[in-house]
Amino acid sequence: MAELVALVRDFVEQEIIPAEPVLQSDGPEARRRLLELRARARESGLWGLGFPESVGGPGLPLADYLLIAEQEGRSEFGPSVLGGETVVDVRMLLAHGGPRLLDAYLQPLVDGELSVSFGMTEPGRPGSQPQAVSTHAAREGDGWSVIGRKWFISNAGFADCTVTMARTESGLSALLIPTSTPGYRKVRSLKVYGRDTGQWEIELDHVHVPGHLLLGREGDGLAVAGERMTLGRTLRSMHWLGAAQRAFDLMCRRLREREVHGGLLSERQLMREHVFLSYSAISAARELTLRAAGVLDRGLDGRVEVAAAKVAASRTASDVAERAVQVFGAEGLSDDQPLSAMARRLRTTRILDGPDEVHITSAAGRLLQTFATATTFDFTRSGTDRDHALEATAP
Ligand SMILES: Cc1cc2nc3c(=O)[nH]c(=O)nc-3n(C[C@H](O)[C@H](O)[C@H](O)COP(=O)(O)OP(=O)(O)OC[C@H]3O[C@@H](n4cnc5c(N)ncnc54)[C@H](O)[C@@H]3O)c2cc1C
Repeated sequence: MAELVALVRDFVEQEIIPAEPVLQSDGPEARRRLLELRARARESGLWGLGFPESVGGPGLPLADYLLIAEQEGRSEFGPSVLGGETVVDVRMLLAHGGPRLLDAYLQPLVDGELSVSFGMTEPGRPGSQPQAVSTHAAREGDGWSVIGRKWFISNAGFADCTVTMARTESGLSALLIPTSTPGYRKVRSLKVYGRDTGQWEIELDHVHVPGHLLLGREGDGLAVAGERMTLGRTLRSMHWLGAAQRAFDLMCRRLREREVHGGLLSERQLMREHVFLSYSAISAARELTLRAAGVLDRGLDGRVEVAAAKVAASRTASDVAERAVQVFGAEGLSDDQPLSAMARRLRTTRILDGPDEVHITSAAGRLLQTFATATTFDFTRSGTDRDHALEATAP
């Protein structure tokens, strides 16, 4: 395992990080380079290390795969090049796709030839309340005609399909919509902090979706999305912590090189605080994320653990990148260093994947609920109260 982790780290450092300026341009050249790098990753046996055995992957437990994901995350493009982003789509299709859908889409996805975006959030609606989705799917033949608008859809610039949350007769449903379908339109790229970062607004104008492109059962959209997001959040938490570690390395190297007033920056107490607080935050968030993965690996309800991991990882990553920028001074704010792009991107993690506040509120509610039947919380165990009971009765 350690050897594999080291190979992934080398690939990220030697192949992906040098290509970041091109990949960040979010245009056709970026797409071409991404596919080239994916091909190199496949040749090197490093593509899809999070895939299950049923599709030819190594079938690693999530807690093991996270050690690889951590290295992928050192570059924001690592997960896309090495398949860390695709893991969630592969698992979603396997769990919820019917035979015709799997026939058409699973293999290209596993081969890295198909990109999928996820369309839940809508302009003018609170994204933190998925029940507020207004995109409408009316019955049409054996399928639906979809009308609506989505925004902040990551990777929609080049995605081949969008998993779209739409309101059908039975409630919210998840539909896999090929982006080439008539009526599917990319409206605009949404700049984040003034830059194109792969976030798009899309319009669906009477888009016909055949019945076999439904994921799960009609009305099960929130469950399908919830499952996808639980795995996605855990993985992304580790990706963000990989980025935090890269920022930490850059910061510490700079502190040991930069001289100010005749002494090294690393000798200044306030500078040392950046090192200490970053180290302890990364270490704590990392443990929380591995703990969440362990709970999911055991098939337990990990909502509290995943929420704790997500909030710790997003805050840590954003904070460490900010500290590193501060240590670098003006240069840290410039594009001469990767830190400004990292700090901008990592700031968004406190909003995407559910704003931190939503996780804090719901996890705290679940924790408090355990006190309905207990007078103390058992920190030596993981999983929520229901699962504690199941574990206790397991042979
Ligand atoms: C970089 C990026 C990528 C994204 N990618 C995707 C994607 O691929 N697909 C997709 O569908 N969406 C995506 N999103 C959208 C993201 O999921 C939403 O932004 C998020 O769910 C929050 O919704 P909102 O922005 O509408 O904020 P709102 O729901 O309007 O919330 C605004 C703020 O209110 C506060 N708040 C909200 N609820 C609570 C609560 N219960 N308790 C306390 N405070 C609360 C929080 O501070 C929150 O930031 C992305 C967003 C970003 C920034």
